[in-house]
Amino acid sequence: MPTLLVIGGGAAGLMAAVTAAENGAAVTLLERNEKLGKKLYITGKGRCNCTNLCAPEEFRQNVVRNPSFLFSALTALPPEALLQKLSDWGCPTVVERGNRAFPTSQKASDVTRAFERRLQTLGVAVRKNARVSALYVTDGHISGVRLESGETLAADAVIVCTGGVSYPSTGSTGDGYALLAGCGHAIEPPKPALVSLTSDAAWVRALQGLSLKNVRLTLTHGKKRLYEELGEMLFTHMGISGPLALSASSYLAGNPIAECQLTLDLKPGLTEQQLTARIVRDVGVAGRKSMQTLLRGLYPERLALAVADLAGIDPRKPAVELRREERDALVRLTKALPIPLSGTEPIAAAVVTAGGAQVRQFNPSTMESRLVRGLYAAGELLDVDALTGGFNLHIAFATGYCAGRAAALAQAES
Ligand SMILES: Cc1cc2nc3c(=O)[nH]c(=O)nc-3n(C[C@H](O)[C@H](O)[C@H](O)COP(=O)(O)OP(=O)(O)OC[C@H]3O[C@@H](n4cnc5c(N)ncnc54)[C@H](O)[C@@H]3O)c2cc1C
Repeated sequence: MPTLLVIGGGAAGLMAAVTAAENGAAVTLLERNEKLGKKLYITGKGRCNCTNLCAPEEFRQNVVRNPSFLFSALTALPPEALLQKLSDWGCPTVVERGNRAFPTSQKASDVTRAFERRLQTLGVAVRKNARVSALYVTDGHISGVRLESGETLAADAVIVCTGGVSYPSTGSTGDGYALLAGCGHAIEPPKPALVSLTSDAAWVRALQGLSLKNVRLTLTHGKKRLYEELGEMLFTHMGISGPLALSASSYLAGNPIAECQLTLDLKPGLTEQQLTARIVRDVGVAGRKSMQTLLRGLYPERLALAVADLAGIDPRKPAVELRREERDALVRLTKALPIPLSGTEPIAAAVVTAGGAQVRQFNPSTMESRLVRGLYAAGELLDVDALTGGFNLHIAFATGYCAGRAAALAQAES
């Protein structure tokens, strides 16, 4: 019987292997680690936010790169269908705030266990400690793989699901890029996404530990607005992190950082006029009390001092002596506080890798290569990435599903 090989036992590979076996293929799953699902295990802080039950349009809005490539995959395996499968395989789920789904047990390991049981039931051969180092192509068709050990395995279909390059200790070290590039595939350079942003500004680093809620972060490149969102963020010893900063990093990826500007609106609920009126009123109330006292009513203490310093206001001076230019500077900075950007934390610390195998070289319904017949790719290896909320895992599951199904059906037909 012809063999179908799946390379990588992460979210995409597990789903591809199970689906191919369900569609009648004789499948061998090759995983370089001593166990399956090492990255899955740490997702969602160990709880695994496995998908997001929002409407399809909203799902695609959360995909940062190449959302239209995913149209067929999301139709083939929508979030509800994924949750039904997990439940059927003994891993019921619960939907929490923001449509985020987690295993009811709150244990990411239960997702991997459900897949392992399913692989066993279907008779999939799982080979651990089996790192693939090359693909063989004969007459434009995949013909097998070579393992790092030197062993070769013949195959008439291969699904590459090796992930990106973030968190390399989980086994995702970018091997798939070299495997696909060796077959002529173009690779968009990998870049960190969903990663903390760094700043060299002393005032930013001095605010380490301060978290802000209900602020608006805006990222621009020249006149182009790359990202704008209301939410939470956190100052760190390196720069900024938290949901807003992580999302901004995904839109920053691929843009020249030196030309991008990041600004923070500390009072998104107030217009400049309303804020000016509020400060005028506060000055009247504060009288000869210090500016520091007035500013404490507007921002958290440490931020108040930083903003005063940036606005060139002596925090010890009486509020009543605040000059008009100083007040205007305060308003400007409150509505658009520039956070100097120096870069991002390294790709190894990124939640996902942006970039990867160019999607135009793959059929979006089947994930089959347009260059090599019988070769498929799925998951983070592809140049698709999304924001937090369960979207990235769902992309891996859905593309793995399409690849597994198509590869098995193509085999059955030949
Ligand atoms: C800390 C953290 C938390 C996250 N939390 C979430 C979350 O809650 N929700 C969400 O949607 N996303 C989350 N993500 C993102 C999500 O984990 C990934 O997008 C997803 O795991 C990608 O799946 P994948 O199967 O494509 O790749 P991976 O999960 O990276 O799996 C690739 C597999 O291939 C194996 N492999 C690599 N090279 C070879 C080779 N040469 N031969 C054999 N095997 C190989 C690897 O060992 C690995 O097991 C998180 C990521 C991180 C780092």
